[in-house]
Amino acid sequence: MATYIPQLAHADPDHFGISLVAADGANFETGDADHAFTIQSISKPFTFGMALEEFGPQEVAHRVGVEPSGDAFNSIELQNGTNRPHNPMINAGAIAVTALLHSRYGSATFDAVLHRLSAAAGRRLVVDECVYESERSTGHRNRAIAHLLLNFGLVHSEAERALDVYFRQCAILVTCHDLAVMGATLANMGRNPRTGELVFDIITVKHVLSIMFTCGMYDYSGEWAYRVGVPAKSGVSGGLLAIVNRQMAIACYSPRLDNRGNSCRGIDVCTELAATFGLHAFDCLNVGSSFLQSVL
Ligand code: GLN
Repeated sequence: MATYIPQLAHADPDHFGISLVAADGANFETGDADHAFTIQSISKPFTFGMALEEFGPQEVAHRVGVEPSGDAFNSIELQNGTNRPHNPMINAGAIAVTALLHSRYGSATFDAVLHRLSAAAGRRLVVDECVYESERSTGHRNRAIAHLLLNFGLVHSEAERALDVYFRQCAILVTCHDLAVMGATLANMGRNPRTGELVFDIITVKHVLSIMFTCGMYDYSGEWAYRVGVPAKSGVSGGLLAIVNRQMAIACYSPRLDNRGNSCRGIDVCTELAATFGLHAFDCLNVGSSFLQSVL
């Protein structure tokens, strides 16, 4: 389990939950699907979506790239030439995204993030203050990344305040059920299928799912795209969210991680479900665009 955030070491390694929410809101779940844990990096696609809507893709692209890094999630590595973080799914990119939001919302940034993630989950989410405090007081590596970005002018001068928002967003508590509803909101073209609320616009969803597909599993992203073949995002507390576009979201929680920081059981669950039900984007069972079929 992740222990570099000391509070995460207290999780029960045997917890194991799975929740599926379909794009029409139907819900199937088993195990510890109602156990709350911190969202960690699974917050990243959602803050990236917020930044795209607030600043537009061009402005966001000045701060963060869209290339898989092939490096670990906490790598202190920036792109040659531009000095941008490789993508918004690794820590450096996510910190740049949150700092961009902070440059506009200031002290209201965290509330805006919490509000949007809550809308995606369909209920008011809260923060685990112990995990937040644990990461805030030990997150020296992320602090180094934020200052490196500041050095290159990729974040504004309030880098420390923005980093604080990043630590808080990672400490938002969710269950598998919440994550699956958040994922189903993306699968359902940005509209929460349980509440009917439009949370992200359709262009944002396309961009967010693309990045999740190519970069969501860190340095396992290529293998994941090959074997499982759906957009996904993992977090170090053991959560994993996989999205089958226009169909459903699969959320898993199991705290034991592999050496890339992805949930071991989470990977197994998604690999098996994808193989059994033909969920891979390029599976022959996946017939693609019904619009094109209707006009041909
Ligand atoms: N809060 C964690 C960190 O920044 C998130 C990382 C993760 O979930 N992979 O280190």
